[in-house]
Amino acid sequence: MRPLKACIVYLLCFWLAAPLAFPADSGPLRGYSTEAARAERDWETKFRGVPDPANLRAYMQRLSARPHHVGSAYDKDNAEWILGKFHEFGLDARIETFDVLFPTPKERALELVEPVKFTARLEEPTVAADPTSGQHDEQLPSYNAYSIDGDVTAPLVYANFGIPEDYDTLDRLGVSVKGAIVITRYGGSWRGIKPKVAAEHGAIGCLIYSDPHEDGYFMGDVFPDGPFRPKDGVQRGSVMDMPVYPGDPLTPGVGATKDAKRLALSDAATLTKIPVLPISYGDAQPLLQAMKGPMAPPAWRGSLPITYRIGPGPAKVHLKAKFNWDTKTIYDVVARIPGATYPDEWIIRGNHHDAWVNGAEDPLSGTSSLLEEARSFGTLLKQGWKPKRTIILCAWDGEEEGLLGSTEWAETHAEELKRNAAVYINSDTNSRGYLQVEGSHTLEKFMNGVAKDIDDPESKLTVWKRMQFREIANQGGGRGGAAAAATAQDRAEARSRPDLRIGALGSGSDYTAFLDFLGVASMNLGFGGEDQGGIYHSVYDDFYWYTHFADTNFVYGRALAQTAGTAVMRLADAELLPYDFDDFTDTVRRYIDEVKRLALEKRDQTIERNRQIDDGVFAALVDPRAPMLAPPKEPVPPFLNFAPLDNGLAALQRTTEQYDKALASAMENGGAALARAALKEANDKLVAVERALTLNEGLPNRP
Ligand SMILES: [Zn+2]
Repeated sequence: MRPLKACIVYLLCFWLAAPLAFPADSGPLRGYSTEAARAERDWETKFRGVPDPANLRAYMQRLSARPHHVGSAYDKDNAEWILGKFHEFGLDARIETFDVLFPTPKERALELVEPVKFTARLEEPTVAADPTSGQHDEQLPSYNAYSIDGDVTAPLVYANFGIPEDYDTLDRLGVSVKGAIVITRYGGSWRGIKPKVAAEHGAIGCLIYSDPHEDGYFMGDVFPDGPFRPKDGVQRGSVMDMPVYPGDPLTPGVGATKDAKRLALSDAATLTKIPVLPISYGDAQPLLQAMKGPMAPPAWRGSLPITYRIGPGPAKVHLKAKFNWDTKTIYDVVARIPGATYPDEWIIRGNHHDAWVNGAEDPLSGTSSLLEEARSFGTLLKQGWKPKRTIILCAWDGEEEGLLGSTEWAETHAEELKRNAAVYINSDTNSRGYLQVEGSHTLEKFMNGVAKDIDDPESKLTVWKRMQFREIANQGGGRGGAAAAATAQDRAEARSRPDLRIGALGSGSDYTAFLDFLGVASMNLGFGGEDQGGIYHSVYDDFYWYTHFADTNFVYGRALAQTAGTAVMRLADAELLPYDFDDFTDTVRRYIDEVKRLALEKRDQTIERNRQIDDGVFAALVDPRAPMLAPPKEPVPPFLNFAPLDNGLAALQRTTEQYDKALASAMENGGAALARAALKEANDKLVAVERALTLNEGLPNRP
C-alpha cells in the first residue's frame, strides 16, 4: 500500500502543482487568433524577464537627487536625462515644451494675533539621517499652488474637512464663516474643494493642516523613526479648480504653445477666490488651542492633545500669501515605437516626472517603472518584435500643479488623438501590496486577463489571485479607497464572477484629459495597500524615505513594469482590439440600480426629516447647554422617470450580445477571420466607442 499511496500523492502533487507553475503561458487571448496568441505569449514572457529592480533603484536615485518641480533646473535636467535614456534604449524620442502659468511663493506669513501671539514656522526642518532633506536652496516652500494673493486678518473657524456637509453642521451649531478665516484638515476630499467651499460660504481665507490623526503619530512612528508625518511636515499641493478644467489656467481647451492665445490673469477661472496656505500640525496646534466656542462634534476631532473647538475666535490670525505669477516652460518627454500593421492606432502609456520636491514616491516610483518598460521594449525590438500598433511612451511634466503636461499635450494633439488614440494607460505612485486598477470598464476583462499572468513578489500567487482574496476578505482601502466591509454578496461575487471589478476613474492624475476631454479608454495602474506614510508632497518624500519604508527592494516596481508593459504589448499586438462590453454593460446596470436607489432613499430621508422638524423632535431633544438648531426643511425630491435609462440599458444589452456572437463566430477555426482586411474597419469602430461616452456640451457648469 505504501508505495502506491506515495505514488498517488506524488501524482496529485504534480497535477496540482502543474497549473500553478505555468499560469502565464497558455490559454487564448481575446482579440487574437490561436496562432497569434502563441507568438504573443512568447514575446510577453521574454518581456517580463527583462525589468530589473537594480535599474529601478538607480533611476529613482538619479531622478530624486535634487528638487525637481516645474521651473527648476533639475526638472529640465531630468527631462533631458530621460530623453537620453529613451535614446539609449533605441527608441525614437523627443521633448515637447509648453509655457504655463506657474505661481511660486513670494511672501508667506501666518501669525496668531489674538488672544496670544504666535508666528507659524512654515518650514520643514532638515532631518540629519536624510541626506536630501536639507537642500533648502532648491526646495519649493510649502504652499498651495494657484491660491490667489491675499493679506487678511480675521477670527478663525474650524470646519473639519471643509466639505459641504461640514458647513451644514456649522449652520446647525449657529456658527457662520462669513468674514472668517477657515481652518480645515487634510482628508475627506480633494484639497481644492476646501478653499472653494469655504469661499462659497463667505470665508476670506483658508488654512489646510495635516492632523496627526490622518497621517501622523496616530498612524505610527513619525519620520525618521517611521514613515509617518513629523510635526513640521507639510503637504504642498494644487488648489486649482480642476473640476472646471485642468491644465494651464490661461489656455483652456488649447495647447499652451508659444503663440497660443492666452487669457488675462484676472480672467483665469481656475484660481481660488480666497488665499490658501497649507500648514503642519506643529503650526496648527497653537491656533486650534486658542479657539473657543462650541466643542467640535466627535467625528471632527483629530489626534492633537487639545480640546477641539469650532470658534469663531477668539483666536484671530493674520494670513498673508503673495506669489510670483510667472510663466514657466514644462518638458514632456515622448517616445514613439511605430506600429507595423496599424500605425494609426495608438496605445499610450504615461507617468509624470515632475515632483513637489524630491518626489521619490510621487512620482518616481512610477516613472522608474515606465523607464524600465521602455528599456524592455527596446530589448524586444532588437530581438525582432514588431508591435502592430504604435506605442507612445510619455514622461509628463507639471502633473502636480494641475495635470499641466498631459493636458497641454492632449489639447495640442487633440485632433490626431481623437482619430488614433485607442487606449491610455497611466501610473503615478507605486508601493507594495495589491494591484489597484481603475479604468474604463470596456477594459475590465482585458485587465483581469493581464493580472492573471503577473506573479506577486511577496505571496508568489498571481497578482490576480491576491486581488481576489483581498476582495473576499475585504480589508478595505481597495478600489478607490473604499473601506466598507465585504458583504456576503460581495464575497460570493468575488468567488464566482469571472472578472474582478475595477474602480471608476474620475480625475486626479494624467489620464484626465484622455478620458474626460478626448474620450479615450483609459486605465490607472499601481500597487499599494501595504505601505503607508505621511510624507506625501513634503520634502521627506525622497530616496531615503522610499528605500527605508516603501518598496525597499523595488520588486513591486518590477511588478508594475511587468503589469503595465504586458498590458501595452497585448493591446498593441492584438489583431482585434480586446475591448469587452459584457463587464461594461454590467457596470452600467449597477450604476442605474444605484441611481434609482439613491433617488428613493433621498426622498424617504427628506420626508422623514421634514416630519421630525414639523413634530418638534429637534426642538424637544436639544440640550439647552449645548444648543443645536434644527436643520432647515427641504423640498421633497419628486419621483423620477427612469424609463429612458432602462430602455438605453436594454439596447446596450442587446448590442453587447450581438457583438459577443459575432466575435465568437470570428474565433471559429482558430480565429481565421481575424486575419481579414475588414479588421481595420472593425478596430476603428471599436476605438470610437469610448468617444461616444463623452458629451460635447459637458456636464452642468463643467464644459
Ligand atoms: Zn503624482
